[in-house]
Amino acid sequence: MKITAQDLYNYTKCAHRVYLDVHGDRAERSEASAFVQLLWEMGLQNEREYMEAMHNHAYVDLQSMDIDSACKRSTELMATGTDIIFQGGIKADNWVGRPDLLVKHTDHRSQLGEFYYEPVDIKAGKGWEERRRDRRRFKSHYAFQVMFYREILKRIQGYVPPTARIINVNKEIEEFDPQEFSLSFQTALREVEELISGRETSEPVLGSGCHQCHWYAKCRRWVEGTRDPSGLYFVGKVKFDLKKVGLANLHDIAEMEVEDYVGGPRKVAGMGRASLVRMKERACVVLRGGPAIRPGYEFPDIHQEVYFDIEDDPTRNLTYLFGLVVRERPGVERFQYFLARTPDEEEKVARDFWRLLAQTRDAVFYVYSSKERTTLKRLMERYGLDGSVFERYVEQEYDLYTDLVVKYSDWPIYSYGIKQIANLVGFKWRDRDPSGANSIAWYNEHLKDPSREEMLQRILRYNEDDCRAMIAVKDYFQAHSDKSVSPEGLPSSTAR
Ligand code: SF4
Repeated sequence: MKITAQDLYNYTKCAHRVYLDVHGDRAERSEASAFVQLLWEMGLQNEREYMEAMHNHAYVDLQSMDIDSACKRSTELMATGTDIIFQGGIKADNWVGRPDLLVKHTDHRSQLGEFYYEPVDIKAGKGWEERRRDRRRFKSHYAFQVMFYREILKRIQGYVPPTARIINVNKEIEEFDPQEFSLSFQTALREVEELISGRETSEPVLGSGCHQCHWYAKCRRWVEGTRDPSGLYFVGKVKFDLKKVGLANLHDIAEMEVEDYVGGPRKVAGMGRASLVRMKERACVVLRGGPAIRPGYEFPDIHQEVYFDIEDDPTRNLTYLFGLVVRERPGVERFQYFLARTPDEEEKVARDFWRLLAQTRDAVFYVYSSKERTTLKRLMERYGLDGSVFERYVEQEYDLYTDLVVKYSDWPIYSYGIKQIANLVGFKWRDRDPSGANSIAWYNEHLKDPSREEMLQRILRYNEDDCRAMIAVKDYFQAHSDKSVSPEGLPSSTAR
């Protein structure tokens, strides 16, 4: 069985996907989503643009060859010292790689001669990403692919350079230290080999990335059918620790004596009493099939409510829509938006939106994530916008996800995203396939053919519905505020 760099990439997202891609029944796979197709297209487009810009450098292009022919031809070209090979093929035993570039260097000798080759990938994103508290980290899914090529080349030429590199979306070279990934990469490679060979099986772990995966329907069916712990909000990979101590399914969790798992031989790694209690409550909620609302929340007593949602495209580092539904009183609502029809309109649209923020007093801005705040901050820094306007916005913001849904309720579903929660309270989107990822795909469709106004209309309708979904969630909680009780024993008010 072949192992490819794509397998290492997939492993960083989900080990079960590596297993299913080889051993799963292909009839159970769904089509790639519009967003995944967009990412493929952007990756190819980025490679094309980079290679066009390389017209001063001679390179041999093998992209039209199948992998076996590309490997054979690359071996010949590397033996004769060709400077650059685009989309060449390299292999060692059952490891097969197709790095975007194989670049010849002459500062060290190898088994090939007075030179060696370095694998370089052209990526549609940046390698280094900012983390919390200004810590930077190189993306492991990029690093693992390049490290896989290096492993193959080490076997072919007996040498690889001490640093590794990619070319990012801005056509800049980004460098990382392979040593930092060495241990995690070797573990990943071993596990990928076990999964692909079938010596090891795996299980689904439902998480936020699953919606874009072609095995989603199958995995969700399995999780629901087996009452797997990853069907609970916020469990994810912790399910493996739960299973080790005998909490194999939702029934075990719902019936557990929390004190038995706080310490001693059945201690659940990384979970304290409070987390165990919440998990038990959530398991009861899922088994019962209806939400539990806890008392204690309240809403600002301000007559103007603004439900606010941003659409952005992280692949372009672009914010293209600020959408708002303004409610003066129940039933009196209007949708307002600020739309960048092209990426170069982002600054103008951000400034227009800033003016609206500056004029809006005595309002509460309801959002459903921290994304709006972080995006506004980034735009403020990028365009030098008035910081006092941002500060006032922050004071007026109410995050329905963090400050309401997560804090004061449990739901019979593994994700507490706005789509899932609003659906459970009866809200329906007008679009047949609503998602933030699809909004990005539609925007890119529009950019390809700006005459297709219907793509922009679809985005606006979707964004308005996202805002109205927040209204539905807020109203649901408002209506239940006097009926909510502690979920202990779960006799609470429910939607169903
Ligand atoms: S749906 Fe989720 S759990 Fe299943 S293979 Fe895909 S990423 Fe993994």
